[in-house]
Amino acid sequence: MAKSTFLANMSHEIRTPMNAILGYAHLLRRGELTAEQGDRLTKIGTAGEHLLAVINDILDISKIEAGKMVLEETDFALSAILDHVQSLIANSARAKGLTVRIDYGNVPSILRGDPTRLRQGLLNFANNAVKFTERGTVTIRARLLEESESGLLIRFEVSDTGIGISAQQRAGLFRAFQQVDASTTRKYGGTGLGLAITQRLARMMGGDAGVESQPGLGSTFWFTARLRRGLLAESAETRDQSSPESMIRLHYAGTRILLVEDDSINQEVALALLEDTGLKVDVADNGWQAVAKATETDYALILMDMQMPEMGGIEATQAIRQLPARQWTPIVAMTANAFDEDRERCIAAGMSDFIPKPVDPEVLYQTLVRWLSNSSH
Ligand code: ADP
Repeated sequence: MAKSTFLANMSHEIRTPMNAILGYAHLLRRGELTAEQGDRLTKIGTAGEHLLAVINDILDISKIEAGKMVLEETDFALSAILDHVQSLIANSARAKGLTVRIDYGNVPSILRGDPTRLRQGLLNFANNAVKFTERGTVTIRARLLEESESGLLIRFEVSDTGIGISAQQRAGLFRAFQQVDASTTRKYGGTGLGLAITQRLARMMGGDAGVESQPGLGSTFWFTARLRRGLLAESAETRDQSSPESMIRLHYAGTRILLVEDDSINQEVALALLEDTGLKVDVADNGWQAVAKATETDYALILMDMQMPEMGGIEATQAIRQLPARQWTPIVAMTANAFDEDRERCIAAGMSDFIPKPVDPEVLYQTLVRWLSNSSH
């Protein structure tokens, strides 16, 4: 308990300044830059994302160990896992001249389970495959192993033609903080948590994880999971191709929204991201102001920070929900509290959605599009 409170606080304390670092790096990139400045901004961005990945891994492993990781149960398309992972490694694979293949095997195209965690596991494998392969091919594959009354057993795997791992090195590879050797770590970076997380997630899903490898020839990392057939109509996957940012500019320029944020740096970053899309943004510095402004104006959406002096996001949301005709205004939490409990508290208080800090501009724009298109304004 003490450990998980400590981790939650540490995560919050790291996320808040990371929001400023990544946010400003993103905004600076939009101005005029010399090649050198652009290159340095890219490095700030990459370093920031790496730091965030480390924090997320540490949080994940401690959540799993504390028995607090809860799996989702939802319908999704197999392609949303495999194609998505492929697109996430596409750039780094291309930069090394690697070919990436996808093999859907005989797996039903619509499944039911936890797509986020499946994708996370497969992405861990795929990132490693690119990292430890200098030439050849990375294959992302799914296979149906069994189908019975109780559901499907599916194997997900990533094969590479990279450096491989000896039998001796394979022992203990899935333990937390384990890396093949310290010199590899220096060359390739990494936390040594990815495989441990993937194996634990797989076991939570009724499966397991492992590796087959021949040193010098390549490796196949696999995990299995018990899933069900899903019911989603396949057409639901055919999405609008234009970027969320341009959709906001096209359909919602001039729409009034409220940004509730007490930290002046975070305010500036969020405001710049929002105003870039043509939205009209009012700002409240705390919960009281938010309630006052929401009383006066029927905003199309409210972005709500959680921890603020005087009146926090939860209380402000509860107060706004009591106002006449504000019951359905989308209120989206923006918070550096990254735990599931925090998300549940937001929803219980009447919030509509949740964006983690540091705010990823893509996620922000996607969320705005989703809720603006739902609201009646
Ligand atoms: P990280 O990659 O962050 O160090 P992981 O748990 O994902 O942590 O991997 C642990 C170690 O396993 C890596 O440091 C590397 O030594 C080895 N490894 C993982 N994937 C591969 C691969 N595809 N080929 C060779 N070695 C690998």
